[in-house]
Amino acid sequence: MKKRIFSGVKPTGHMHLGNYLGSIRQWVALQDKYDCIFSVVDLHAITEDYDVADFADLNFEIAALYIACGVDPAKAAIFIQSHVPEHAELAWILDTITPTGLLNRMTQYKDRAVEKQESVNAGLFNYPVLMAADILLYKAEVVPVGEDQCQHLELCRDIARKFNARFGQTFPEPQTILNETPRVMGLDGERKMSKSYDNCLYLLDAPDAVEKNILVAKTDPQRLRRTDPGRPEMCNIHLLHRAFSSPEEAATVDKGCRSAAIGCVDCKRMLIKNLNAFLAPIQRRYTELRKDPGAMPSILRKGAERVRPIARETMAEVRQRCGLVPM
Ligand code: SF4
Repeated sequence: MKKRIFSGVKPTGHMHLGNYLGSIRQWVALQDKYDCIFSVVDLHAITEDYDVADFADLNFEIAALYIACGVDPAKAAIFIQSHVPEHAELAWILDTITPTGLLNRMTQYKDRAVEKQESVNAGLFNYPVLMAADILLYKAEVVPVGEDQCQHLELCRDIARKFNARFGQTFPEPQTILNETPRVMGLDGERKMSKSYDNCLYLLDAPDAVEKNILVAKTDPQRLRRTDPGRPEMCNIHLLHRAFSSPEEAATVDKGCRSAAIGCVDCKRMLIKNLNAFLAPIQRRYTELRKDPGAMPSILRKGAERVRPIARETMAEVRQRCGLVPM
């Protein structure tokens, strides 16, 4: 029996390189070894402002990009979170055993609350409980996460323990597979790549947009002149070279940067060429998938059909353990 994995991406905007390196690349590597469930987590996305008219298409875009990047729907279940209503049902039950004090400590929530500088909605506050429900609904044993999600995973384990202690052993405590890719910084070089900061390179960017954006991206702030030696470990361009250039080219950049043998513009031009070569087949596959308007709805329907029986079985057990009247 393969261990089960759950993961998802929030459809809050177009998919960027941070999403790819932080999630999708790892999913592709894990899909042969694990029983994988990958969701487009739309119920999380609606905790923020969103464009109702474009929302459905954005969900299809994200799911199509999973596939275009190499996630195989024959191996992994790919579906829209809200198509399995048990996510929201389990989240409510888990809400009733989650102390608000724990949710108050979530750094992502605190950061968002400060950013918004106004009262945030209850959905955003309860977001980590829904995330716990996403995982526990499938009794996932493993969750691939980036560093910034570790706190949410710890909360998920806490919630599983609390539920098991109160109602009897039901949920496994999911383990983490930490994504080794360091945090991908945005083009501003200051904050992580995020749609909210408008500092992203997108998977569907045309070659000239990739070129334009990389040429203006911040580099090592201490490399003020062409003759100054640089510090690749302080430069996001080098991180992208490690992800999208050959190991030999990344090593050449590392050495050339430290000795000032290579200038930032030449370094960036190498990256632009490699990145566009990487994106071209993804964009081709994506266009192919979206050409047929029925293709993505059909794939997502099949994905939901695959996972629904698991969700229903878990919820039947949860309801019974909680003493709810059987339906
Ligand atoms: Fe960054 Fe490349 Fe410039 Fe070094 S040479 S600072 S790695 S852009």
